[in-house]
Amino acid sequence: MKLQKPKGTQDILPQESAKWQYLEEFARKTFKKYNYAEIRTPIFEHYEVISRSVGDTTDIVTKEMYDFYDKGDRHITLRPEGTAPVVRSYVENKLFAPEVQKPVKLYYMGSMFRYERPQAGRLREFHQIGVECFGSENPATDAETIAMAAQFFKEIGIGQVTLQLNSLGNAASRAAYRQALIDYLTPLKDSLSKDSQRRLEENPLRVLDSKEKEDKAAVEQAPSILDFLDEESQEHFAAVRSMLESLGVPYVINTNMVRGLDYYNHTIFEFTTDVAGSELTICAGGRYDGLVDYFGGPETPAFGFGMGMERLLLILEKQGAALPFETGLDAYIAVLGEAANRSALELVQALRNQGFAAERDYLNRKLKAQFKSADAFGAKTIITLGESEIESGQVTVKNNATRQEVLVGLDQVQENYQAVLEKLGC
Ligand code: ATP
Ligand code: MG
Repeated sequence: MKLQKPKGTQDILPQESAKWQYLEEFARKTFKKYNYAEIRTPIFEHYEVISRSVGDTTDIVTKEMYDFYDKGDRHITLRPEGTAPVVRSYVENKLFAPEVQKPVKLYYMGSMFRYERPQAGRLREFHQIGVECFGSENPATDAETIAMAAQFFKEIGIGQVTLQLNSLGNAASRAAYRQALIDYLTPLKDSLSKDSQRRLEENPLRVLDSKEKEDKAAVEQAPSILDFLDEESQEHFAAVRSMLESLGVPYVINTNMVRGLDYYNHTIFEFTTDVAGSELTICAGGRYDGLVDYFGGPETPAFGFGMGMERLLLILEKQGAALPFETGLDAYIAVLGEAANRSALELVQALRNQGFAAERDYLNRKLKAQFKSADAFGAKTIITLGESEIESGQVTVKNNATRQEVLVGLDQVQENYQAVLEKLGC
């Protein structure tokens, strides 16, 4: 029996989890500005919710699903991504109903599961923050959603991201392009990877998405999808581009970027960044106007993106960005002798009841060890409490940064510690 965590998973320990909370909080605040609200869907879904919507021939569905049959013989899978579950929920809960204000803007954050070969920024349980917007075909939705991601990266301190933009057009444009791509790739078939030879039959656009060297070389001269967009598709893409330009969001066009999932149409995008010479995608998304209909809802245009938390944290670390989150205690109570135990309990509770973060010694240790703890916990102040303090009703409170001390009444600590902090310049 293995008593270690499964391959490709992580324990997020307190120092790390503080960063996670900071990122999550920052995302919540950003999304709120754009009128997004949170949705929480189950960690597991019926296999079919994912398989056909994400695409039967995608890597996610063919190789990476954590699926199993439960005790009731239902085919279940841990969710590998956020969009299909949210669309399933949108339809199941009839959020398309006229009384629900449109567009419906939803965000989620949580674990996703893919059976992948673990490496830096690639895990088997990973975490995504994502958004989905339902009910607007306005190119302004594409532009503002992309701008929201750009604002998030900029304000959180991630530099040097590149926004890669492309359009898959509508179904008609895509069908025309598909044929052109087959005509281009068929003579090159033998030079493609095994996977891409199969992709060429099943879903030729996916060859463009391959990470294999030989495939990348083969597609370099491939026809551009932008040359196959019909008028409607061209207009939409031109509008998105010019809106991004008026918002001052820089982008590059990458006609070989097609995204690994089947449900996209029109605008697709990725934010990439360079980590130690290799390109890493931290956020990816686009328009998926057919998916609500696929799940049995009314035809509904939609747009969304997902970003990988582990990759965000990896890049923040590589770029040396300091996250300005608050840690530390307002007060640490150094306890002298067992006789002070009960008073220490009452005092630390009194501080917490006033809203302060407070800790005490529980272990009857030497003062020196207690002061070390106070430092380790980043305590702003230290209160020393022993029998004589209890008798006199007076305690010494020390500013742990400046070493300044004041003698104050125990009752004041119990009732108005804010005043004590102010006396010490905290
Ligand atoms: P990649 O091409 O890197 O495999 P993908 O196209 O499979 O990415 P998406 O399904 O678009 O990725 O997921 C959106 C984001 O989620 C990615 O840009 C990435 O930041 C993150 N992500 C995807 N798979 C993983 C993983 N296995 N581990 C960590 N993060 C991941
Ligand atoms: Mg992948």
